[in-house]
Formats: sequence, C-alpha cells, structure tokens
Amino acid sequence: MSRSVLVTGGNRGIGLAIARAFAEAGDKVAITYRSGEPPAGFLAVKCDITDSEQVEQAYKEIEEKQGAVEVLVANAGVTRDQLLMRMSEEDFTSVLETNLTGTFRVVKRANRAMLRARKGRIVLISSVVGLLGSAGQANYAASKAGLVGFARSLARELGSRNITVNVVAPGFVDTDMTRALTDDQQEKILQQVPLARYAQPEEIAASVRFLASDEAAYITGAVIPVDGGLGMGH
Ligand code: NDP
Repeated sequence: MSRSVLVTGGNRGIGLAIARAFAEAGDKVAITYRSGEPPAGFLAVKCDITDSEQVEQAYKEIEEKQGAVEVLVANAGVTRDQLLMRMSEEDFTSVLETNLTGTFRVVKRANRAMLRARKGRIVLISSVVGLLGSAGQANYAASKAGLVGFARSLARELGSRNITVNVVAPGFVDTDMTRALTDDQQEKILQQVPLARYAQPEEIAASVRFLASDEAAYITGAVIPVDGGLGMGH
C-alpha cells in the first residue's frame, strides 16, 4: 500500500537515499529543501526546520497534495565542529536548534494526524557520535544523544496508539558532511571501523525503510547502529 512519507533534508545525502528507497517501494514521498533546485520525482516542499511557521506550511502542503504524513523520517541535520574552548554559544545552540529542536518541531506536527489515525512510523537519524562522543563535536554529539532520549520518551507515550519511534545511528557515511573532513581525519576514522570503509547512503536507507515496514511492527524505542562496527560496545 502506498503511504505518505516525509523525509526532512531529503534533497541530498542520506536523506535523498532514504527518499529514493521509499519511492522505489511505491510510497508517496515528500522531501524538504531550503534552497536551490530540489531533485525531481518527489513532492519538494521548501522548509527550514528551525522555523515553526515553515514547518506548519510544509505540512499543510503535504497534507493537501499527498495526504497526512504516515511515515516521518527526521533526517535534517548540521555540524559546526569546534573544540569546546573555541566553541561559541551560537555554535552550540544553532546545532541543537536544528538537530534536536528542529526534530521536535517536525515530529510534533506529524504526531497530530498519526494520533488520529492510530498508526504511524517515526524514524530519527542520530549518529554513532551521539553515544560514543567525538572530540570537537560536543554540540553535535549532545544533539544526537538528545534524539535518543526524545525517541524513547515518545515510544512510551505513543506506543498504545500504534505509533513506533525508532532511531538509526549511522557511522561514517559517504556524503558532503564527511567529504568536508581532512584526509588525515578520514584515515583516523577508517582505522577504527571494523568494516574498514564508509557506508553508502543506501545502506542507511535500507534500515530506515525496514523500521517503517510491517515487519518492524514490534520494534519501538530502538537505536539501530549502521556503523560498520564503529560503536560496538555502547
Ligand atoms: P548533508 O550535509 O549531506 O545534508 C544535510 C541535510 O540536512 C540537507 O538536506 C540539508 O538541507 C538539511 N538541513 C540542514 N539544516 C536544515 C534546516 N535547518 N532545515 C531543513 N533542512 C536542513 O548531511 P548527510 O546526508 O550526511 O546527513 C543526514 C543526517 O545524517 C544528518 O542528521 C546527519 O547528522 C546524520 N549523520 C550523517 C553521517 C555522515 O557520516 N554523513 C553520520 C551520522 C549521522 P540543505 O540542502 O537545504 O542544506
């Protein structure tokens, strides 16, 4: 059955791979984008998740054009890496504002229709870094760890309404975000990954699609690592 899916930040990187995975399975897929030309083949809605009004408008457009969101993938995220000593308050709050509060905004808005429908699937994209920590990424790691507490609280709140809330925690994935790292940083990372390579965005998308499938109906409050073994043991 074709469902109404929303992937935030579905215009590129991991989000685009997730959007494609749902579209290939026959779902109706909306993606958010902030600027430029969004990729074809999806309902592209302009939306900055730091702005509640834009989130509201995006949902209205999606509801009108493809129906209330039944599967939400909160993927949009940013980094602003800096050692604590040099990290400004703005570096910290702006990352939290997008990754954590932005996710709160889109989840809260999706929840309304899911409660009414008494079903829904919510998948949040965290990171291995949220659980492992990462020097120079205290803001990012805090935001990604925050998503775990957020998801698990919602799993408890919404379980009786047949709404599942899960987290996917990718390791290092081949996207613009990791291409921005220096060669030295990339080499150090790969030395710690048992599978000795980056993930392709499609490998993250496969887990997300599974969590939104009927086969995953009894999984909620889970954190699924897709990290080549990097985070083992936490
Ligand atoms: P990219 O930097 O390639 O893409 C980030 C996406 O988020 C873009 O679509 C971007 O939209 C969107 N976005 C950022 N800020 C906002 C905002 N305020 N409102 C709406 N959309 C926004 O990142 P990746 O594809 O690599 O990452 C996707 C997710 O996966 C992120 O949450 C990231 O933290 C997480 N992740 C990534 C890993 C990696 O190795 N790449 C590892 C672990 C987790 P726009 O095009 O408008 O900028």
